[in-house]
Amino acid sequence: MSLKKRGAMIVLSSPSGAGKTTLVKLISKNKNHFVSISHTTRTPRSNEINGVDYFFINKDQFQKLINDNEFLEYAKVFDNYYGTSKKNIISKLDEGKNIIFDIDWQGTEQIIERKLSYKLITIFILPPSKKVLRERLSNRDMKDKLIVEERMKQFSKDLLHWKNYNYVVINDDLNDCYKRIMDILDTELNNKKFLYDKILIESHIKKLI
Ligand code: 5GP
Repeated sequence: MSLKKRGAMIVLSSPSGAGKTTLVKLISKNKNHFVSISHTTRTPRSNEINGVDYFFINKDQFQKLINDNEFLEYAKVFDNYYGTSKKNIISKLDEGKNIIFDIDWQGTEQIIERKLSYKLITIFILPPSKKVLRERLSNRDMKDKLIVEERMKQFSKDLLHWKNYNYVVINDDLNDCYKRIMDILDTELNNKKFLYDKILIESHIKKLI
């Protein structure tokens, strides 16, 4: 009988623009860590590649995947649908690979509720300030100011879900934040609990609200 250790599910969520996608890419460079590529009905940004950043599909195709029960989780974020297909993920986890999920709080709740038998580590990432968040959102391929304002409004709502996560980290400096996340993962993957300063996080959240 094979005693191969099963992989862990590593969930990273954040309000849009907190730098999560960059962090996910850095973490995936570590041995045995793979990113889950989501399906979305959103149109690709100029720097995005189909099959690398997302699988870009239309609403009918997305609905078919829902009907066929292909999704581990899915959610409507802003005006688009996003979902994680079970295919590939489960087999990779069974092979002992760690999978990183860049998904929102709705998807995270669904994964928690599923109570799968894989180790689950959930991390919520915060921007250092609202000012920095606005700058990051404005620098994207989103010329439309309305979109930035919409995402800033959504930010305050998304923030409230930090309590459902195992860990919360502040992305003040990309390298520092990445190191903190890797410390958390190394500790957790060795079946220990990482101690973090919840009081500091709570006071940071108060500032952001
Ligand atoms: P963006 O459009 O900026 O790439 O992503 C918008 C939001 O959708 C981000 O918070 C991202 O984490 C989330 N997202 C991306 N893929 C998925 C997914 O498969 N499921 C869920 N629930 N959220 C996702």
